[in-house]
Amino acid sequence: MTYLANPARYETMEYRRCGKSGIKLSAVSLGLWHNFGGVDVMENYRAIVRLAFDSGITHFDLANNYGPPPGSAEENFGILLKKDFAAHRDEMIISSKAGYTMWQGPYGDWGSKKYLVASLDQSLKRMGLDYVDIFYHHRPDPETPLEETMSALDLLVRQGKALYVGLSNYSAEDTAKASKILKELGTPCLIHQPKYSMFVRWIEDGLLDVLEQEGIGCIPFSPLAQGLLTNKYLGGVPDGSRASKAHGFLKKEMITPEVLLKIQQLNKLALAREQTLAQMALAWVLKDKRITTVLIGASRPEQLSDSLLCLKNTAFSSEELGTINEILRD
Ligand code: NDP
Repeated sequence: MTYLANPARYETMEYRRCGKSGIKLSAVSLGLWHNFGGVDVMENYRAIVRLAFDSGITHFDLANNYGPPPGSAEENFGILLKKDFAAHRDEMIISSKAGYTMWQGPYGDWGSKKYLVASLDQSLKRMGLDYVDIFYHHRPDPETPLEETMSALDLLVRQGKALYVGLSNYSAEDTAKASKILKELGTPCLIHQPKYSMFVRWIEDGLLDVLEQEGIGCIPFSPLAQGLLTNKYLGGVPDGSRASKAHGFLKKEMITPEVLLKIQQLNKLALAREQTLAQMALAWVLKDKRITTVLIGASRPEQLSDSLLCLKNTAFSSEELGTINEILRD
C-alpha cells in the first residue's frame, strides 16, 4: 500500500541538539543492526521504519556489516527509501559506519583510508544514496595511525559523500586525540556512539566529560542491553527473541540468575513509576542532558510503540536513582 507519512509526526517527539553542531536529533533513534537483514521479513521491518518516521524519529543508524548477511540491512533500507521515503530524504539523518570485517583481504577491515573510502562507496550504492549524513569509524584500530583514519573521514566529507563524521567505541582518551585531529582538519566530530545502559556504564568515567568539553553529541547503543532491560526474559527465553536466535548477539548464557534478579528488581521499580522496564531503561539514559538521543532496536512495531513512551517521563527522584544504583551494584 502507498505510504503517506503522518502529517503530525513532528508534534510529539523531542529534538535535542547534537553537541555544539547545527544538527538536532530525535531523542529516540532507530538502529538497523538486527531485524532488518536478509534473514528478516520485509513487511515487518517496513512497518517498523514507517512507524518510526510517523512518530517523529528522524535518525536511522546503519553500518556496512549489518544483516545478516553483511550489507543486507543497507540494501533493504535502500529499498524502503525508494519505495516509501523518496519524498522525505531531506527529513532524515542516515548514518553508516566502517570498522569491522566487511570483505576478505587486508583492505576490508579496521581503519585504513583504503578501507573507509571503499566501504562508504559500497554503502552508498547499497542504499541508493548520494551521501550519508553521518559516517562513523566503527571501532578504534590499534595499528593504523589515528591521523590516517581521521584524514579518511575528513576526505569523505570534502568529497561530499558524508556531511558529518562520528566515532564509535573509542575510549575517552582516543576520542580526545581524534577530536583534536579532526578539528585541525576542519571537520569536527559530530557525535560519539558508545555502548551505554543501566548494565554498561563505562562512559560515566570520563567519556561523557570529554564529549561535553569537545562539543560532541552522544548516541548510546544497546540502551536496553539487547532486550535484557525489558520484561521479556522474566519468564524464560521466548521463541523469536534475540537470545533464542543463532545469529543474535545476545547469548542465553548472558541471562544468569544474578542478571535475572536485577531485572526483576528493576521491573518492580519501573511498574511503581508507571512505566514498562524498557521505558524506564531508556528514560534513565535520556535523563543526562549530555545524551543527544538513545539508539534503540526493535523486532516488532509494538516494541517501538512501547519504547517511544519513555519520553513521557524521563525525570528520576534522587531516591529512585539511589535504588537503581543499589540494584545494579555487584
Ligand atoms: P536495544 O538494546 O534497544 O535492543 C533491542 C532489542 O530489544 C530488540 O531487538 C528487541 O529484542 C528488544 N526490545 C526492544 N524494545 C523492546 C520493548 N519495548 N519491549 C521488549 N523488548 C524490546 O538495542 P540494539 O542492541 O538493537 O542496538 C540498537 C542499535 O545500536 C543497533 O541497531 C545499531 O544501530 C546500534 N549498535 C551499534 C553498535 C556499535 O558498535 N556502534 C553495536 C551494537 C548496536 P528481540 O529481538 O528479542 O525482540
